[in-house]
Amino acid sequence: MRTTEQEMFCETARGLIERHVVDLIADSERNQSFPREIIPIFHEAGLLGGTIPTEFGGGGLDHVSQSMVIEEVSSHWQVLGSLVAMASGPVGRGLLTFGTPEQQERFLKPLTAGKSLAGYALTEASSGTDASRMSTRATRDGDDFVLDGAKIWIDWATDGDFFLTFARTDPDSTGARGISAFIIERGTPGFSTLAIEGKMGLRALTVGELHFDECRVPAANLLGEEGAGFRIAMSALEEARLGVAARAVGGIRACLEESVAYANDREAFGRPISSFQLTQTKIADMIMAYDASEALTLKAAALLDAGLPASREVLGAKLFAQEAFMRTSHDAVQIFGAYGMAEEYRVNRMFRDAKVTEVTGGTNEILRILLAETAMGRGSR
Ligand SMILES: Cc1cc2nc3c(=O)[nH]c(=O)nc-3n(C[C@H](O)[C@H](O)[C@H](O)COP(=O)(O)OP(=O)(O)OC[C@H]3O[C@@H](n4cnc5c(N)ncnc54)[C@H](O)[C@@H]3O)c2cc1C
Repeated sequence: MRTTEQEMFCETARGLIERHVVDLIADSERNQSFPREIIPIFHEAGLLGGTIPTEFGGGGLDHVSQSMVIEEVSSHWQVLGSLVAMASGPVGRGLLTFGTPEQQERFLKPLTAGKSLAGYALTEASSGTDASRMSTRATRDGDDFVLDGAKIWIDWATDGDFFLTFARTDPDSTGARGISAFIIERGTPGFSTLAIEGKMGLRALTVGELHFDECRVPAANLLGEEGAGFRIAMSALEEARLGVAARAVGGIRACLEESVAYANDREAFGRPISSFQLTQTKIADMIMAYDASEALTLKAAALLDAGLPASREVLGAKLFAQEAFMRTSHDAVQIFGAYGMAEEYRVNRMFRDAKVTEVTGGTNEILRILLAETAMGRGSR
C-alpha cells in the first residue's frame, strides 16, 4: 500500500522517465556513457536527495518511500536507479554520519543538489569480498596524507567528481584495523581514472579504476578518525544494500510486466503463448518473486525508519531480491524466445543487469554467510 505522497513521487518519476529518459536508454547503454543532462531534471523534481535530511539539501524521505522511488525508477532503467540511490548511498550516508560541517558543506550538499557525482572506492584488484586486505597506502606527511595504490571496479570512476576512498594508514596493520577513509577529488595531482569497457550489465554506469601515484591530499579530506575507515566503509553499506534490493524489486517488476504483455501477444501453434501452462508457471513464479522481494525490502526499510536494528532484514532482502531478479529475468528472456537475445529488449538488459546485482555490494555467497551469522550470534562484518 502506498500513501498518496508515495504514489505522487512514483508518478512524478514515471512521467519524467517517459518524457526525458526512455529515448536515451538504448544509446547510453550502447555508448557506455551516462546522460548527465538528465540529472538537473531529476534534482528539480526532488528525486535525488533520498533519505538525507533536508537541511543538507537532501530529500528527507523515509526509507520506505525511498525504496519505492528506487523500485519505480529501476523498473525502467537500473542505471538510473543507481543515480537516484547515490546521495543516500554509502558516500552521502558516510558524509552525513562522519563528516565535519566543512566536509558536509563542500561534498554532501553538492551531491544532494545533483551538482556532483561521487563513488565509493573499496575494492582492489586483489581484494574484493575480503576488502579489509586492501593494500592502498596513505602515509602522513605534515598536514597531508600521500596515497599510493589503486582501486578497481569503482562506480562512476570516469564521471565522478569525488570518491570516498579507503587506504591503509597504519603500515604495520592487517585486516580491518589501520584503515582510514579519505575524500579524493578529481583533479588532485597524482590521481587518475580509467574506464573498464565492455562490461556485461549496467553498461551506462561507468565503472573503472582509480590510481593514486604519490597523490597528496590535505588532512582535512580525512573522513572520521584516522584508523576508523573500515567501520565507516561497513556502516554505510546497509543503506546501499537496501538500495540494491529496491533496484532488484524494480527489475523483477519490469520482467513480469514485459513477460505478461509479450506472452499475451505472441502466438505459437495458433494460440497466445500465455495460454500454455508452462508459460503460466513462469508468470506465477515471477508474481511470487515480486511480492516476496518487495515485502522483504519494505520490511527492512520500515525497521530502519523506526530506528531499529535491521542488519538481518537488509541482508535477507538484498540476497532474496537479487537472486529472485536473476531467476525472473532468466525466465523473461526465455518467454521472449529469440527476441530475448536482442539487446534492445528491456528483458535482455534486465537479465544482464541482474547478474551484476548478484556480485556487487555483496555476492550471493557472502550475503548468505553474513545472514547466517546474524542468527548464530557471530556478529556482522
Ligand atoms: C559493475 C560493478 C560495479 C562495482 N562497483 C563497485 C564500487 O562502486 N565500489 C567498490 O568498492 N566495489 C565495486 N565493485 C566490486 C564488487 O563489490 C566486488 O566485485 C565484490 O565485492 C566481489 O569481489 P571480487 O569481484 O573480488 O570477487 P572475489 O572476492 O574474488 O570472489 C570470487 C568468488 O568467490 C566467492 N567467495 C569469496 N569469499 C567467499 C567465502 N568466504 N565463502 C564463499 N564464497 C566466497 C564470491 O562470492 C565469488 O563468487 C563493483 C563490481 C562490479 C562488477
